[in-house]
Amino acid sequence: MDKKNSEKNVIIIGAGASGLMAAVWAARGGTLVTVLEHNEGPGKKLLITGSGKCNFTNMLLSRKRISGKTAGEGKVGTDPYRGSALNDAEAAVVSDTKVFKNAVMEHYHGDPEFAASAIEAFDAEDTVRFFRELGVEPAYRRYPYDEGIYVYPASMEAGSVLRALMDECERLGVHFVYGCEPEHIKRSLCWEIETDGDSFMADAVIFAAGSNAAPKTGSDSSIYPLIKDLKHDFDPFMPALCGLKTEAGILEGLKGVRTEAGVSLHVYSDNDMMLYQSRGEVQISSEGISGVCVMDISRYAAIALKRGYDVELSLRLLPWLSEDELRDYAKSCIERDGGKIRPETFAGALPLKLSGYIMELSGIEEQDLLKSEDDERTGHKDVLSSEARRCSGMGNAAVKAVGYTRGTDDIDKAVERITGLLSDLRFRIKKTAGFDHCQAASGGVSTLQIDESTMESKLHRGIYFCGELLDVDGSCGGYNLQFSWSSGKIAGSAAASNVNLH
Ligand SMILES: Cc1cc2nc3c(=O)[nH]c(=O)nc-3n(C[C@H](O)[C@H](O)[C@H](O)COP(=O)(O)OP(=O)(O)OC[C@H]3O[C@@H](n4cnc5c(N)ncnc54)[C@H](O)[C@@H]3O)c2cc1C
Repeated sequence: MDKKNSEKNVIIIGAGASGLMAAVWAARGGTLVTVLEHNEGPGKKLLITGSGKCNFTNMLLSRKRISGKTAGEGKVGTDPYRGSALNDAEAAVVSDTKVFKNAVMEHYHGDPEFAASAIEAFDAEDTVRFFRELGVEPAYRRYPYDEGIYVYPASMEAGSVLRALMDECERLGVHFVYGCEPEHIKRSLCWEIETDGDSFMADAVIFAAGSNAAPKTGSDSSIYPLIKDLKHDFDPFMPALCGLKTEAGILEGLKGVRTEAGVSLHVYSDNDMMLYQSRGEVQISSEGISGVCVMDISRYAAIALKRGYDVELSLRLLPWLSEDELRDYAKSCIERDGGKIRPETFAGALPLKLSGYIMELSGIEEQDLLKSEDDERTGHKDVLSSEARRCSGMGNAAVKAVGYTRGTDDIDKAVERITGLLSDLRFRIKKTAGFDHCQAASGGVSTLQIDESTMESKLHRGIYFCGELLDVDGSCGGYNLQFSWSSGKIAGSAAASNVNLH
């Protein structure tokens, strides 16, 4: 339909991923579109996605899924932390609806069924096609321990994605009002939005104001008064996809460590223990532990801590080894060091700081230094080179922690103790990194009051919701943006066709 012939107009609140997608499709559907954005420009969060590279979808979310076999087999793992590239030919597709549904259910939280319905209507392939038509070429990447296929713009710049959306909005004549703060919404003959400046009238309004994640980008839950005006149920936002913090000081000596680990989150409620697991590279700073595998389970920590439950994070180091192999490894390291344990003992497989930390925690030095003839004569023996001490960042604590084992019994005990630590290195979690440092938030507008096929409110005709404002949050890997594209597309198209019917 020619927009010029239409008198109907749609207002979208929020010029982020889902709002811009909704704007394109509402305008393509023939309505006049105005986007109200309280920032001074569009897509502030979009520009920082994927560390500025924008992982804009994941081919696991394709109804015709890219086969794991065809897609880059043999390349994965060549450079584990950079990922491996696939070309279009390798990205051959095989139909697998069941896997698609499983992937959606596994990677979305809040209301995964609702997410599945939206993504089924506009999936990863639709997204790749949509952006390709706007000039954004996809680049596919795979990473270890992740069956997903991450999609980035080939430019590896998030700006390509934002520019494509804004160029299309311009071609379609979408009007943007920046620095505009909506304050209330009410229904008269049509919908009326009062802002801190003008009032705006609309046949339909699409709410695309995001969550409370990274509030400096503009998604700061300031939309809440309007949600209240509409009497929609709203589950308070909680940080998701963020690092986890321990008590101050505990991790000081491990600052900068990056290592692969199996990660388990233990949540102790009143009479139950819940376990959430993942695997990948963990990154340790002086304040906390992060990495994609930690972020993916952080939502459960946030919810549990809010309820006052105890939360512990367990790292299984050297996760490619079985328990028996881990024990053999510990034993061979100790024996190679002549029955001695020092900070470097496990540093052939672990970062030196972590090897030293394991030794320190084992407490073996206290038992065994007393037994050591050398040490009875000379006290604690400083076998740490100044270089090792500097690298470990452990100072004198590390020096004292040097221990010896004597005799078979002592070695067996030491092996058990070390194996226990390598397989279950525990940290008590005190808090999450919080909204400022999270990539998504759980909670939001209840999906029970939203029609999943149109994103229209079940309480009010002409009111639509999309993106992270809804109670859907996804894993790391392009899942959150895909939900924004899918729900934005559905809301924009449905708003346009509904208003044009009346
Ligand atoms: C650091 C970081 C990295 C990320 N990386 C990825 C990634 O690689 N892949 C991925 O899939 N996801 C990623 N995400 C998540 C993804 O960015 C979001 O899920 C997605 O942007 C949500 O889109 P949205 O349209 O719902 O909200 P947003 O993109 O947040 O847009 C909401 C817009 O509404 C505006 N707004 C809010 N309130 C008001 C108001 N009251 N009045 C007017 N305007 C308002 C905001 O200013 C903003 O422009 C990342 C997030 C962060 C923080």
